[in-house]
Amino acid sequence: MDVAIVTVGDELLAGDTQDTNSTWLCGQLTERGVQVRRVTTVPDEIGEIARVVNEYRAEYDAVITTGGLGPTHDDVTMEAVAAAFGREVEPHEGALAWLEEHGGYSADDLVAGTTNLPAGARMLPNEEGVAPGAVVETVYVLPGVPAEMKAMFQLVADEFSGDRTYTTFLTTPQPESELIDLMVTLQETFGVSVGSYPGENVRVKVTARDPETLEDAASWLRERIDVVEGPEVSETA
Ligand code: AMP
Ligand code: MG
Repeated sequence: MDVAIVTVGDELLAGDTQDTNSTWLCGQLTERGVQVRRVTTVPDEIGEIARVVNEYRAEYDAVITTGGLGPTHDDVTMEAVAAAFGREVEPHEGALAWLEEHGGYSADDLVAGTTNLPAGARMLPNEEGVAPGAVVETVYVLPGVPAEMKAMFQLVADEFSGDRTYTTFLTTPQPESELIDLMVTLQETFGVSVGSYPGENVRVKVTARDPETLEDAASWLRERIDVVEGPEVSETA
């Protein structure tokens, strides 16, 4: 399963707020064996949001947006997702009923537009806040507040799955320039994917589809580079 993430918010693009939502979602999705293919941040503008949602829903199995939910002037994500599908937004009866039952709200307490979702959407209740999320076909619309986003993602997490992968990291003091040929040969010989992440040392990440291939590839590499730590083997579902 290939997924794109779209984070929405002028504050992210201005550098006022760090986009922790996409990093958290990338971790959750990767753990589930899902390939995250894009993370894109867009401003609070209907046209910009609708354009990337449309592009990505055509290209990937699912799209997750965060941010821009609620009734305030800069919360336009629901309208934008509706526009991407050529739909209108309309009050969702289930959303109102959920807020009445769980939040103790009445329709009069809620700011107009709070329960507006794209026509035909599946409502996702906001267990940590007020503004509901939505699923429209393959597009999942989640809130921006990290605690609300995380709680809502748990409601749909089982809808995201992929092939199990196995990963190990090897850390070496050798410069990346010495590793180039080895990395290419490693990929070609074992059919694994290899990432190289320089810092104080270089962390080499090897990912395989089965544990035997991973062990063979890691052993091959360990014989050819100086390894200072590891490997720690981790598994993703
Ligand atoms: P919004 O849903 O766009 O009104 O955002 C509500 C709150 O969540 C604001 O304080 C945002 O700064 C914060 N927020 C929105 N998007 C993100 C994100 N991608 N990462 C971290 N915080 C965010
Ligand atoms: Mg916002």
